[in-house]
Amino acid sequence: MGQALPVTWVRVTDVERITPRTARVGFTADELPALLEDRPDQQMKLCLPRAGQRTPRLPERHAEDPYGMRWYEAFLAIPEAERPWMRSFTVRSYDRQRNVMAVDFVLHGDGGPAARWGAAAKAGDVLGMVGPSSLYARPLPAARRVLLAGDETALPAIATVLEALPAGAGAVVFAEVADAAEERELPSAAHGAEVHWVHRDRGGSLVQAVRGAGAALDGVDAAWVAGEASAVRDLRRHLVEDRQLPKSTVEFSGYWRRALTQDDAPTKEDLAWAAERAADAS
Ligand SMILES: Cc1cc2nc3c(=O)[nH]c(=O)nc-3n(C[C@H](O)[C@H](O)[C@H](O)COP(=O)(O)OP(=O)(O)OC[C@H]3O[C@@H](n4cnc5c(N)ncnc54)[C@H](O)[C@@H]3O)c2cc1C
Repeated sequence: MGQALPVTWVRVTDVERITPRTARVGFTADELPALLEDRPDQQMKLCLPRAGQRTPRLPERHAEDPYGMRWYEAFLAIPEAERPWMRSFTVRSYDRQRNVMAVDFVLHGDGGPAARWGAAAKAGDVLGMVGPSSLYARPLPAARRVLLAGDETALPAIATVLEALPAGAGAVVFAEVADAAEERELPSAAHGAEVHWVHRDRGGSLVQAVRGAGAALDGVDAAWVAGEASAVRDLRRHLVEDRQLPKSTVEFSGYWRRALTQDDAPTKEDLAWAAERAADAS
């Protein structure tokens, strides 16, 4: 675990509730112009303060190694009671003129430090950020028509993928959200992307919706799926086994696990799927 990942402070500039359960938080930092690239689906980890801390404690930076080649060792060296909570997020957008990066926090309740922080975030608050890094960039397979499927946590990434679609490529989106109030504008118009909202309060689920999509998926030759891990695995299986998409054309990623936090160890199933992903990528 010795990747070259940048570790920086980021300061909140503004917070907007874009839906009842989504806080869009603007962050700035002197390092952002050099860190953020013009590519979709930039992922990073935010370091959040423990109870009683105003700002999180970040892994030590060394003058000769300012970007923390060994950040993870330094992170683990922080005593556990003071070690920041670290959670994965997506850069929804970056306004180079204002030097402000927007991150959408899903407010899924007060059971997680990131959701709690997002619900109370205000201008001036400071977090740590690890990444983003092009080491983790996973380019979408070239497609004539791509399926983008996910829950609320995947919507920021889906939006950036839609924005980056090459001219002539089509897209169909399946997005599972809590209810109709969680729907939001997606940059779909430019590509005539077809968007299907799936509402949990009406008994809908992403898995059922995609499995039952029928002709809505005609012509789909690649897919990008993210969200709750078991739903993602189910859909990946469906796309490869039932819809006969080559494995290499299905990009999938479990973003969160039901009843488990991001600090919990991987389950046997997580490890098996990680091995399969690695095999697919090689
Ligand atoms: C590459 C990547 C990019 C991501 N991008 C984003 C993003 O842009 N915005 C975003 O909001 N999330 C994003 N996520 C998901 C986010 O990291 C997880 O939801 C994370 O668990 C939230 O941390 P937490 O501290 O709120 O909850 P945790 O402490 O991790 O979990 C506490 C409890 O909450 C449950 N839980 C966690 N997330 C959810 C959820 N969404 N709905 C319902 N229950 C949940 C867990 O099962 C657990 O029981 C991303 C994840 C990955 C891997």
